[in-house]
Amino acid sequence: MTSRKRSPHDFIFKEELGHGSYSTVYKAVDKRNIKKVYAIKVCSKAHIIKESKVKYVTIEKNTLNLLARANHPGIVKLYYTFHDEENLYFVLDYAPGGELLSLLHKMKTFSESWAKHFTVQLVDTLEYIHSQGIIHRDLKPENVLLNKEGKLMITDFGAASTSNSSSSSSADDLDNSNNHSSSSFVGTAEYVSPELLLYNQCGFGSDVWALGCMIFQFINGFPPFRGENELKTFEKIVALDYPWNISNSIVSDNYRVGDVNPLIINLVRKILTLDVDKRISLKQMKLDPWFASTNWKDKNTIWKGIWQ
Ligand code: ATP
Repeated sequence: MTSRKRSPHDFIFKEELGHGSYSTVYKAVDKRNIKKVYAIKVCSKAHIIKESKVKYVTIEKNTLNLLARANHPGIVKLYYTFHDEENLYFVLDYAPGGELLSLLHKMKTFSESWAKHFTVQLVDTLEYIHSQGIIHRDLKPENVLLNKEGKLMITDFGAASTSNSSSSSSADDLDNSNNHSSSSFVGTAEYVSPELLLYNQCGFGSDVWALGCMIFQFINGFPPFRGENELKTFEKIVALDYPWNISNSIVSDNYRVGDVNPLIINLVRKILTLDVDKRISLKQMKLDPWFASTNWKDKNTIWKGIWQ
């Protein structure tokens, strides 16, 4: 951060990159250094107040500020925030590769090696986020952006919560069973955890659940739990009704489990466990046979680009 407060006049706004429920995101360059390209998220103050989004914007700003300190490659970095009469502005890392979901839609499914590449980067990033006492609570492929080399960046911390018992823990302290906080429904139906649906509880394990849904989606192209409406999706989640739950009699007809490396199926089954205390933790996941060839300490290899 610089000492002088920056303003919208310091940037040249380029094309619109997209918009969300209370914001529009633009590509922008820094007038002082036109080689510096950012994504600037512009949130209309009137709209935020009208739509009762003040809480989400505040959470997003505070969480991104906290996470920006460590410069973790897997988290979209917040460089500056400022406001004028009409808008709030968040100056963020620009992600030219767009959303991971768009890439998945384009490719239909990811190969095993791409699925592992993204999963490894997600595990490394989530472990860092959790070590800061933060639960993302809305992890899904739309909220994962890609830089120009195909390294991922987690974004959209508007639903995040800070765990009550620790503000900063070592990765070794973290399992799924601690740091549950009472919560109302946040997130997206397909990725919401059973403990949130059944007990209004959300902890680190809820992000791990969403990660399990994403691994399944990388391989199959669609998320594991999907009904015609939110209620039907919730019913499937709490019944653990998804194609890889082999003990479940409702195995989808057109799905051949045999095509997929059983190590992936087994890992996803260890993640998609209804009882959060029995769900595999990130720490345990790193020792899973699917990651036998992954050297978790070698950050350069973990953080290489996919199309480098
Ligand atoms: P909602 O707020 O309703 O959940 P959202 O999170 O998608 O929606 P934004 O964060 O405002 O809303 O993002 C809007 C769109 O802008 C995204 O869908 C994405 O395609 C694009 N976008 C957001 N951040 C960046 C970024 N850092 N770099 C490139 N594109 C981005």
